[in-house]
Amino acid sequence: MLLIGPPGAGKGTQAERLSEAFDVPAVSTGDIFRFNVKNDTELGLQVKAFMDAGAYVPDSLTNAIVSDRLKKPDATEGFLLDGYPRTQEQVLELDRLLEADGTALDAVVLIVADTEEVVARLLKRAAEQGRADDTADVIRHRLAVYEEQTAPLIDIYSSRGLVVTVDGLGAVDEVTGRILEVLAARGLTVPVAAVPVTSGDAASAS
Ligand code: ADP
Repeated sequence: MLLIGPPGAGKGTQAERLSEAFDVPAVSTGDIFRFNVKNDTELGLQVKAFMDAGAYVPDSLTNAIVSDRLKKPDATEGFLLDGYPRTQEQVLELDRLLEADGTALDAVVLIVADTEEVVARLLKRAAEQGRADDTADVIRHRLAVYEEQTAPLIDIYSSRGLVVTVDGLGAVDEVTGRILEVLAARGLTVPVAAVPVTSGDAASAS
């Protein structure tokens, strides 16, 4: 499964929850890059300037990272990609990877959110977490890059019949609920074991 949406739409938050619900790893290229920057790795040094400017990391680097990550044993039964693919070249690379594995995407979850709302969320996150790319100017740039490079991918995946669209506004739980609902409507249901056990109250509810 893929999660697509503008910066600030809540992909990371929802990816964590879906990862738990479906018992598959959530792979976030942004998180992998940030981890490497934080730890001063060679990859971190290569990507830092791009990230700080709100620009995309070159496809060659990004594709190599994802290819490696999806080969790990925990991803053999499925995975959720958050923030990848973001360019048409990345779509082609993912197609190649999946085909080589004899597998295919089940769904592409598009989380939509109003621009002013996502800018407000990102500025709030800047105040809380101090991410280097959460300044007002860089946020505007990231949104522009998303519109130019990543929004066109929605058409590609729509023409393959894979896209489900969910409104990203509202409480985190509500959004998760919406995603699980649209996925269930496509026959993608959460494994029974992953459904939280409810208290006795549920039985008395009409
Ligand atoms: P957001 O979607 O909120 O901007 P992410 O954590 O997904 O944040 O990504 C942060 C940054 O990491 C991006 O602005 C970009 O520099 C880099 N990045 C993440 N994923 C990709 C990708 N698939 N291709 C190129 N660059 C990426």
